[in-house]
Amino acid sequence: MHKTVFVWDDKYLDYSFPGDHPFKSLRESKAKKYMEERGFFHQMEVRRPDPPDENVLYSLHSRDYVEFVKLKSIEGEGLLDYGDTPAFKGVFESSLIRVMGSVTGIRLLSQGYEHAINIGGGLHHAQRSSASGFCVFNDVALAAKEGEKFFKRIAIVDVDGHHGDGTQALLYDDPNVLKVSLHMYHKGFFPGTGEVYEDGIGAGKGLTVNVPLPPGTGDDAYLYAFDEVVMPLLNRFGPEVIIIQEGGDSHFDDPLVELKLSTRGYLSIIRRIHNLAHERSSKILLLGGGGYNYDATARIWTVSVAELLAIPEEEVESLHDCCLTSTTSFTMDKVKEVVERVKKVHQI
Ligand SMILES: [Zn+2]
Ligand SMILES: [Zn+2]
Repeated sequence: MHKTVFVWDDKYLDYSFPGDHPFKSLRESKAKKYMEERGFFHQMEVRRPDPPDENVLYSLHSRDYVEFVKLKSIEGEGLLDYGDTPAFKGVFESSLIRVMGSVTGIRLLSQGYEHAINIGGGLHHAQRSSASGFCVFNDVALAAKEGEKFFKRIAIVDVDGHHGDGTQALLYDDPNVLKVSLHMYHKGFFPGTGEVYEDGIGAGKGLTVNVPLPPGTGDDAYLYAFDEVVMPLLNRFGPEVIIIQEGGDSHFDDPLVELKLSTRGYLSIIRRIHNLAHERSSKILLLGGGGYNYDATARIWTVSVAELLAIPEEEVESLHDCCLTSTTSFTMDKVKEVVERVKKVHQI
């Protein structure tokens, strides 16, 4: 059995935007329920995040911005960015606890755990001095930064339907972190970055890898890109830790993104990384992320955790979509073209 820890605090559920805002913590509570019903918590330890420590934020966020979030957290109204991320009462505390979950996850990996899970993490759009895309603080980049205290090489694999722009910007010149993002890329689609030529700067040149996928990309084309690009890059970089940002909005039923991954496609991705991690003695930190079909996102996270726990497939079969999805030849050709461009830029 692989020594696995699940980091959780009920306060995660407070990070949920009011009214008809699409980001709801219902995803996390549903996933936890699916895992409880199937006895997952007999097979892994559950730990609470380390006590809130706002100093963790200052490694990548500006003091002014942190102070601004604290103020808005008391006011409980207005916006934290230019439109998508509203403030609510307690937004500072509930954001910080989710950051602490990811940071605690990587600390526990340095203390002997092989896999750590924080489905409350994955808020990859937050920037140094601004919220963005429903993300207040960037726990993905902050966890990598914390991980640098213990590990030499860390990889981030971001499979959210949107580009991991905040993570990219915060770690753009970092030579110790490989940042890979696969995402939908289309005119007018949020956040508008994540083209192939964005590949890092300074000491981080070449360590940012973007795979911009066309709408309609299904499991077959996605896994093709993953095998052609992500697996060789991970093998070449040899990370001691792989952080997975597993946003559930690449799912075919997601209302905000037009990628077409199924739960089986997601599982195939996690399985590839899991196998590689054991072959190369890397550790895994699995984080959540976006996901606006709440049930699909909860199912994705549950089958992924089952993979890390080596739980027999039958036990989660009822949570799966029927089958792998396929891509039209028109879209497949576009994906192949993107893959060739990525290979060229990164000499794969
Ligand atoms: Zn394992
Ligand atoms: Zn997303």
